[in-house]
Amino acid sequence: MSEIRTRIPTLYLVLPCYNEEEVISKTAVVVKDKLTRMADAGLITRESKALFVNDGSTDNTLRMLHDLSKQDSFYGVLSFAGNYGHQSAILAGMMEARHYADAVVTIDADLQQDIEALDDFIAAYMSGCDVVYGVRNDRKTDGFMKRATATMYYKLMHALGSSAITNSADYRLMSAKALEALSEYEESSLFLRGLIPTMGFASDVVYFDVKAREAGQSKYTVKKMMRLAIDGITSCSIRPLHIIGTLGFLTVLATLVLIVISLIDWINGKNVPGYTTMVIVMLALGGVILLSLGVIGEYVGKSYMESKHRPRYIVDSVVLRECRKREED
Ligand code: UDP
Ligand code: MG
Repeated sequence: MSEIRTRIPTLYLVLPCYNEEEVISKTAVVVKDKLTRMADAGLITRESKALFVNDGSTDNTLRMLHDLSKQDSFYGVLSFAGNYGHQSAILAGMMEARHYADAVVTIDADLQQDIEALDDFIAAYMSGCDVVYGVRNDRKTDGFMKRATATMYYKLMHALGSSAITNSADYRLMSAKALEALSEYEESSLFLRGLIPTMGFASDVVYFDVKAREAGQSKYTVKKMMRLAIDGITSCSIRPLHIIGTLGFLTVLATLVLIVISLIDWINGKNVPGYTTMVIVMLALGGVILLSLGVIGEYVGKSYMESKHRPRYIVDSVVLRECRKREED
């Protein structure tokens, strides 16, 4: 299925940035240094570039990015009109870069993900892979809570039928061909981690270390994380709806049993006090019903949002200098 590649690829790095003024300058240097070394080693072409995606930052990020791209055509900048989130930012970056690059790697702008792993990504690409997933070696740099919730989350995702790769962050290589295919997906709420494995391209995994953030704070608030988690589940599986159906069926069965028992007691003239049981049953049922409604609501809300066919993001400006359109294979 996968054929060995012989032509050296032009690599574009896509870096989503949301209020990253503390790390941009350093990141820019590190990224350029790495890609230059890779070009020297003959792994990638000299036309390889870094494309920063400004996700509606409210600090100096955009100004700094524009300064960088003015000084050096190695740096490209795509800027959103507002904050559309990390997933949209990497998608926009990939969609722009695919016109010029043979392979695109997305990596966080804080460079927590080990950039040295790029060599392995390119090696996997050369051996014929169209998708290469970066998988973190461990979660030492994460707090206990994040680690525990992440593990539970991937278990849940798999139980619900997703093929998302455990501990694969959005540090990932995609070939131009895979990106072309990705551009065909029209849903506006994208969970790339869950979606890309379902595309079925030849793929491989690269392991990398995660460092602590050098400066600034995590831009992923608990709220954004929750949103991503729920989107992840609802965008790749409707199994929760089936579970609710089963739950309803079981409840009906239990109710029938209770009715029979009550009737027998009534016939026998037993006067059951049963107040506690009543309260417990009522509360439990109420809880299950509300929870189920909530889950169904997530899907209804999602269909509603999708039915509007709104754009996933709005690009305010793109600065990419001295780029050459990709040659078709
Ligand atoms: N990010 C973004 N939009 C957002 C939140 C985050 O583009 O709304 C970017 C952020 O600038 C960073 C990457 O996504 O490059 C990962 O975010 P962060 O490092 O804050 O998350 P963490 O590493 O803590 O999971
Ligand atoms: Mg980070």
